[in-house]
Amino acid sequence: AGQGMATIEPRRKPDSDNRAYRLIQLDNALDCVLISDPETQTAAAAMAVAAGQLQDPPEVQGLAHFCEHMLFLGNKKFPGESDFDSFCAQSAGYSNAWTSLDRTVYHFMLAHDRLYDALDRFSGFFSAPLFLEDLTDRELNAIDSENNKNLQEDSRREFQLWRSTSKDGHPVQRFGTGNYKTLHDMPLESGTNIREHLLRFWGQNYSANIMKLCILGRENLDTLESWVRSLFSDVPNNNIEPLRGVLKDDDPFNSAWKSMYHIVPVKERRKLVLYFPTDSTYPNFRQKPTRFLSHCLGHEGPGSILSLLKKKGWATDLGAGTATQSTHFALFEVSIKLTEEGMPHYEEVIDFVFQYINSCLRGTNNEERRRIRHECEMLEELNFRFRNRVREDQYTEQLACNLTRYPREEVLCGPDLFYDPLDFDAVDALIDRHFNSKNLRIDLVAPLADQPVDGDTEWTEETWYKTKYVRRDISPDLLARWSDRSIKCHPDLHLPRANPYTPEQWELKGNLQSSTTPTKVIDTDTVQAWHVLDTTYGVPKASVRIQLSSFVGEKCARKAVSLRMLLELIQEVTNEEAYDAEEAGFGFFI
Ligand SMILES: [Zn+2]
Repeated sequence: AGQGMATIEPRRKPDSDNRAYRLIQLDNALDCVLISDPETQTAAAAMAVAAGQLQDPPEVQGLAHFCEHMLFLGNKKFPGESDFDSFCAQSAGYSNAWTSLDRTVYHFMLAHDRLYDALDRFSGFFSAPLFLEDLTDRELNAIDSENNKNLQEDSRREFQLWRSTSKDGHPVQRFGTGNYKTLHDMPLESGTNIREHLLRFWGQNYSANIMKLCILGRENLDTLESWVRSLFSDVPNNNIEPLRGVLKDDDPFNSAWKSMYHIVPVKERRKLVLYFPTDSTYPNFRQKPTRFLSHCLGHEGPGSILSLLKKKGWATDLGAGTATQSTHFALFEVSIKLTEEGMPHYEEVIDFVFQYINSCLRGTNNEERRRIRHECEMLEELNFRFRNRVREDQYTEQLACNLTRYPREEVLCGPDLFYDPLDFDAVDALIDRHFNSKNLRIDLVAPLADQPVDGDTEWTEETWYKTKYVRRDISPDLLARWSDRSIKCHPDLHLPRANPYTPEQWELKGNLQSSTTPTKVIDTDTVQAWHVLDTTYGVPKASVRIQLSSFVGEKCARKAVSLRMLLELIQEVTNEEAYDAEEAGFGFFI
């Protein structure tokens, strides 16, 4: 181990995880998690920087994203413009990056024996990028065509629409991707040079103390640590706050934002989204109160909102949870896929959501709420202990991101585990403060013909994606109805029942020996069954495959399609029951 601050290990790691971990902080305050895996074929690394789109200057929208692109195009040590990408490609790997509201994340993966050379190149991104003038011009075109590709994507259109309709002049309102106009024409008009903007942006907003690095390789921890110390110690440290310069108390979601938005999509889709702005959920990671709300609202078993909507034929899908996060705020969304029949009933659909919030989630007896929470705690604990491996590049990316959000010793479990008992008075207070009709925005996405607005409505076009929309105040009647706690709850709505699939024991039975050959355990004229025991990872998991031989679909297209539909129907009718099982870790596929 080297100089500087003491090295520590993550506080917990999964039982099934035999990799070695070490957390270090360099003298320039750069945090790093090192992972040594002697058996890996692939090495990977990721750097998360707590800088992002919210820091774009109003006259150069898309600058954070542009800066992300430019870091790949040469640095003092490796000035070649495609040096890094081609090095990765030649090493059976690839590299990529993304920019969000408050973070920019760079990552790569390649053959395990090329890690040092890749890190050597990668570190130059953060210590001395060149931002060469002639490459700036070319990369502008790359950004512009990236944006053109996105223009017809409904999810991006809807995302930018809630941004564009937020408070005038707020950083949230800006255009995150950028295009030729925002990154070339507009800076030119204001008499500034884009390269100067890039240099200033990087100089002011990139700093070792807000960078989080994760490295996974075959080498031992001491070797990995010495590499990081020698390659990343000269990343400059300006000792800045994450998301420097963005005001925490400046609320982007004003009363005009909290309205009803009718939105016309590119593709035919019908979707109702309820947005509830909340505080950022990360500081309360020990209790995770919003997870209790998303668990219940998004439940698909008996008593759930989705179950009721499906019975009525109004919806096919429902998701609930914090979908957008930044350092300063979060957006909780309830997103419902409506059917054509459901469209005219969208107000009643919202009735059900508020009945559920006001009568089921809030103030019901704590014993039942505690029982539900206890199940969630158990299941997350199990998921964590016996976690499946994800690909090396995804894993390093996740952990680097976790380091920007959670205390570093919680890097492996911060987003998942429940640390402290949930305070249900605080849950009620959270609901009262944020999950009410005065803190609500509604997006109703549907084809023009289905939109419940007058024929002579004047539609607005969003600036960057040209999304067609119109804003309406939510009527006082509806606002009152949705905040009225005395309204009777639909009798079918209730909190999730006890999950019968929650496991109570997960120790393996005794000292079992793995075998490599299956044994036949059932053998009749019509049924054969084989069993093989595998205790390699000591994981309490079983996999059952049932193969039914049918020749129905073989020769006739009509029968093949009917069979396909039958399978879909089986999935659909078993969904309510299977949901509990899936929550408890039972995967179920046909
Ligand atoms: Zn890009």
